[in-house]
Amino acid sequence: MGHQSMEQTQARLFINGKWAEPAAGGSSFPSLDPATGALVGTFAEAGPADVDAAVDAARCALADPAWVGITAAERARLLWRVADLIEAHAGELAELETRDQGQPLGVARDVSVAGAAEHFRYYAGWCTKIEGAVAPVSFPNTLHYTRREPVGVCALITPWNFPLMIATWKIAPALACGNTVIVKPAEQTPATTVRLVELIERAGIPAGVVNLLTGGPDVGRALVEHPGVDKVSFTGSTAVGKEIVRGSAANLKRVTLELGGKAPSIIAADADIDAAVAGNLQGGLLNSGQVCAAYTRFYVDRRRVDEFTEKLANAASGLRLGNGLDPETQLGPLVTAEHLAKVDGCVRRAVEEGAELVTGGTRADGDGSLARGNFFRPTVLAGVRDEMSIARDEVFGPVLPVLAYDDPEELAARANDTEYGLAAAVWTKDLATAHRLAADIRAGAVFVNMLPIPDSGAPWGGFGASGWGREMGKYALDVFTEVKGVWMHLG
Ligand code: NAD
Repeated sequence: MGHQSMEQTQARLFINGKWAEPAAGGSSFPSLDPATGALVGTFAEAGPADVDAAVDAARCALADPAWVGITAAERARLLWRVADLIEAHAGELAELETRDQGQPLGVARDVSVAGAAEHFRYYAGWCTKIEGAVAPVSFPNTLHYTRREPVGVCALITPWNFPLMIATWKIAPALACGNTVIVKPAEQTPATTVRLVELIERAGIPAGVVNLLTGGPDVGRALVEHPGVDKVSFTGSTAVGKEIVRGSAANLKRVTLELGGKAPSIIAADADIDAAVAGNLQGGLLNSGQVCAAYTRFYVDRRRVDEFTEKLANAASGLRLGNGLDPETQLGPLVTAEHLAKVDGCVRRAVEEGAELVTGGTRADGDGSLARGNFFRPTVLAGVRDEMSIARDEVFGPVLPVLAYDDPEELAARANDTEYGLAAAVWTKDLATAHRLAADIRAGAVFVNMLPIPDSGAPWGGFGASGWGREMGKYALDVFTEVKGVWMHLG
């Protein structure tokens, strides 16, 4: 087993159904608790030989009767069993996610772990419903039908913001479609993915079908360039997404990319301001703003902008920062000290460019109690203009920039003046305003009077530099299968 105790994980690689040290001889890396700096665990660093071994194992499993020979109903039962095991270990997984990633325990339990179990259940249901179709070809005496076949060996590369949940967004549909996978979690937060793979092993998924390689960007790169990998499903930054497109070109891998975002949130003059403040506070600050779909630029009708800003700043400055394991905590730390420095730099630059700092803008040490963690005060910036970097670049932190608008006609163009297009929000009581903006904003999801939440049943993904393809719903079946047409002459 890779996992030894809740206190400190000592994890190995999982290749072809066995937990193993890296072939090159036991190189490892630590993962730290972002709230305290304490060691969460030590994880094996995979090398090139391990990447080859994992790809070989996944290729062999594609031809293994223990996987390809089972019925769709049996595959469904395996996935359902994984969901049951996630639920049976919910408390332990949530605590581990909080220690490794920093998110408040309630978020780890109700979003990350609950979402992970739900995703396996949802795709368990799809296993028996992946259908082909009969195409009405115009050749005489000819039957044409389609088969949806697995793409093959899939490299699943995940980020550090919701490590457990995002791993399941990829593993569950990949397995439902009959693929085999190699999972590569982010080096900052590998702990819950290791635990998930242990549960997958216990559920009885055959050896070689799910392999785990922990390590840094080099492991991801080696998978992306490997000729034995058929598909890469990646969630992470737009810069790395572009590298993946280049790196995967040699054998024209199938590539799905869920990348960065800069979601606009529009607060119309007729909006319920208190509801908008509460919703945008959560929509902007969930997981300390380390959410790809987080609301990150607020366009408020100029007649309401002062009221909105004041209420938002009051609410933000009243949030309780702390260790996510403390049940009173509303806002946890940022994932690493390096990321904290990046967020701090973004806020400084905004102020240099002329934004007004209304609240926050500094590191928080809680009179010393938080000094060893990566805590940043929730920050509200007023007087932000479209050309400022804070209104254009992804910050991925607890930073809420407020902009004003005068004419609703300008809104869609301003919201769309970005390379990204993942999510957007509209706060209004007017149906025409809501539907018009929902149609005109270029984003993969538009939320009206609500938080930017994903659901297994609805498509998730972005326009433009926010990525390629869609996860979730029946859309994930398209990206994890190849369509084959079978032609039969009936003469
Ligand atoms: P990142 O791109 O730095 O790293 C993501 C993963 O890619 C890690 O596992 C990393 O080791 C690996 N990696 C790094 N360089 C690589 C390379 N050259 N080739 C292959 N793999 C490589 O992202 P991050 O900082 O961990 O995560 C934050 C980013 O993820 C943000 O931009 C955020 O918007 C995005 N994100 C998007 C979604 C979405 O659904 N669209 C969800 C969550 C996070």
